[in-house]
Amino acid sequence: MRFDVLVIGAGPAGLTAGLYVSRAGWRAACLERLAPGGQAALTSRVDNYPGFDEPVSGFELCRRMEAQAKRFGVEVVQGEAQGLAVAAGSVVVRSAEATLRADAVVVASGARPRELGVPGETELRGKGVSYCATCDGPFFRNQAVAVVGGGDSAVEEAMFLARLCSRVYLVHRRDEFRAVKTVVERALNDTKIVPVQSAVVTRIAGTDGVEAVEVRNVSTGATDRLEVAGVFVYVGLLPNSEFLAGQVARDGAGYVITDEDMLTSAPGVFAAGDVRKKSLRQISTAVGDGAIAAMSAVRHLQGLRAQSR
Ligand SMILES: Cc1cc2nc3c(=O)[nH]c(=O)nc-3n(C[C@H](O)[C@H](O)[C@H](O)COP(=O)(O)OP(=O)(O)OC[C@H]3O[C@@H](n4cnc5c(N)ncnc54)[C@H](O)[C@@H]3O)c2cc1C
Repeated sequence: MRFDVLVIGAGPAGLTAGLYVSRAGWRAACLERLAPGGQAALTSRVDNYPGFDEPVSGFELCRRMEAQAKRFGVEVVQGEAQGLAVAAGSVVVRSAEATLRADAVVVASGARPRELGVPGETELRGKGVSYCATCDGPFFRNQAVAVVGGGDSAVEEAMFLARLCSRVYLVHRRDEFRAVKTVVERALNDTKIVPVQSAVVTRIAGTDGVEAVEVRNVSTGATDRLEVAGVFVYVGLLPNSEFLAGQVARDGAGYVITDEDMLTSAPGVFAAGDVRKKSLRQISTAVGDGAIAAMSAVRHLQGLRAQSR
């Protein structure tokens, strides 16, 4: 398969990049290993994406992004990029199913949740341990759950769970939540949300399913056991960039390094969205990156075509 621009990932950054490339008259495809929408599609409620005066579900927002991209001719190809190489002016992307070639590639493979790394987490994953409240929250209707983390995602998802669950412990290792003030205030006004501050999870207990989380207060050393049926983990991200190893420069955490035009260290390879080294990982910034990367890729194509004339 050959495209003018191949976008790796069909989250907000990838769908936007595809839209801009296609709308400029070039053939674009998004290679997606799961379903289009990325992390944003798994977000229960989006309050801060411009253009929506009422909250919109992440799923609905991404459904519209996908439909809009397809209206301009973006193809979505199912598959997972496993390797990438730049050779003689074109970029070759390897997936399990096919070898795809393009004159330019936009890496928009986003990020995935970081794990807590405590005993019980791996064993009970899918049996009460989850990284997606929208996907798994309804399984815990009228039961107690714990959310681990203190940023926007943790606090927003705790509020989503509070509408379903009998009680939501919000466990955070610091004494103050990192999430924006208005969101924290709303959460702390919810009587079903019980903040457990300055505490770290030391173990997730259970045999066939989660039965409790064990926590330790970081100031006093005191331990406690919270009886819960589910644990939702929101303690940060890891970039989906392993397949770029040795081909594209990344920082120590694995985030792709770009210039302001989204160009990476490899000619013809651009990056956009959460996979990129940057200070704010949001839908609005992913979309902005996607547009810039697309137009840089188009300029790259125009340069290649001018050379070959
Ligand atoms: C719980 C939660 C709540 C959030 N709430 C908000 C919010 O309210 N407002 C806001 O602005 N932002 C929010 N965010 C952040 C927002 O979702 C992300 O910033 C945004 O989705 C990043 O878009 P992206 O396209 O860069 O990456 P992603 O959304 O991560 O999309 C990347 C896509 O690439 C695919 N992919 C990965 N690797 C490969 C590969 N090797 N081959 C093929 N495909 C691949 C993935 O399957 C995925 O579909 C939230 C995030 C989370 C987790």
